[in-house]
Amino acid sequence: MHEATRILLDESRIPRHWYNIAADLPVPPPPPLHPGTREPIGPDDLAPLFPAELIAQEVSTEGRIPVPDAVLDVYRLWRPTPLVRARRLERALGTPARIYYKYEGGSPSGSHKPNTAVPQAYYNAQQGVRRLTTETGAGQWGSALAFACAQFGVACEVWMVRASYDQKPHRRSLMRVYGATVHASPSPVTGAGGKILAADPDSPGSLGIAISEAVEAASAADDTRYALGSVLNHVLTHQTVIGEEALEQLAAFGETPDLIVGCAGGGSNFAGLSFPFLREKLAGRIDPVIRAVEPAACPTFTRGVYAYDFGDTAGLTPLLKMHTLGHDFVPDPIHAGGLRYHGMSPLLSHIYELGMFEAVAKGQRECFAAGARFARAEGVLPAPEPSHAVAEVIAEALRCKESGEEKVILTAVCGHGHFDLGAYDQYLSGEMADFDLPQERIEASLTSLPAS
Ligand SMILES: *Cc1c(COP(=O)(O)O)cnc(C)c1O
Repeated sequence: MHEATRILLDESRIPRHWYNIAADLPVPPPPPLHPGTREPIGPDDLAPLFPAELIAQEVSTEGRIPVPDAVLDVYRLWRPTPLVRARRLERALGTPARIYYKYEGGSPSGSHKPNTAVPQAYYNAQQGVRRLTTETGAGQWGSALAFACAQFGVACEVWMVRASYDQKPHRRSLMRVYGATVHASPSPVTGAGGKILAADPDSPGSLGIAISEAVEAASAADDTRYALGSVLNHVLTHQTVIGEEALEQLAAFGETPDLIVGCAGGGSNFAGLSFPFLREKLAGRIDPVIRAVEPAACPTFTRGVYAYDFGDTAGLTPLLKMHTLGHDFVPDPIHAGGLRYHGMSPLLSHIYELGMFEAVAKGQRECFAAGARFARAEGVLPAPEPSHAVAEVIAEALRCKESGEEKVILTAVCGHGHFDLGAYDQYLSGEMADFDLPQERIEASLTSLPAS
């Protein structure tokens, strides 16, 4: 094992290909269905929403998808990102485990999201699209897409979940600095938003509602397309730059991972970190346990069902076979806004059903405690979302302390928490609550699943 603390790669080591795991799966994932006909959808069904190249990537079974030069040029602003050995955290915990984290918080908008925002803006610009619409929860995706659109001269319009719009005004400011237009969702601007406001003028909104609004706005205009920050196959594929770099960096440390841990909302950072390692595992070269961590308030893997459901609340998207809590499930207002989504990536859901990784759920107080502990030891303040992964890493490291096992643990701190200090304040003053999610609420919400 190498004595280094950080392995930094040269710019020339930015991956030239994204890894598409569809090429290596023993069974292909079930296709998205047209909600009316129940037939698999074709590229034409998606053309009003996405540019041709992204649709091609969505259904591709090519293992390696080239990163265009123009995208690589923007990646150079912050990639490769560091892989850090959390020596001070190890010492503070008194664990024999060796903990490594890939840090994505140094990107322009402070999370892993620009890894996919940049290629999405690029392919749209190439096709002559003038405007992109999207939703954002906590604001990380909205700010990443706003940044990426500014790079390629594309206008950006964001529907931001009302609760976050009010709680996180500075994420909204960052999007506007990058040149985006931001609406609180539900908004009166769209039919879907107007309908929800009429029924509940004080609606706090949800990702599902904001997606309905952004999809509706994109469908209504010829020069406009829609961009999604997680869940879809092409998004997960773009995020594999994280895992590809980490593979090389961990090897430079002289290490082989025993456990890979990531937080999962729609699944993109978890997939981005783990898929390249899963490729190596499928090839028999390594054998790590891979574990997703989700919030107890929105437990799609651990308590949701695997079924066809809509990706949004109004039912405008194709039907996706995924782990879901039901498309009108509105999670309690935990601070990890990026993990409050009723569904889960269909690709990851399929891989989970194949038994290729495991999942656990955690309450937010444990996660904030872990985030603060991590910050005190390592200096980096994790966003509330990756604090879920950090909490599991700490729990595992403490188990190693009991057993004496020298496990090699790899995780991703996929964003910094500098816009989330209000939430940390709440945690520190003892005002943060954990929400108990009753089984009846899940069952009630699942009654809205489209009949199969
Ligand atoms: C958006 C976001 C998430 C959740 O999305 P995934 O697609 O599951 O990665 C997690 N962490 C951060 C920092 C985010 O911005």
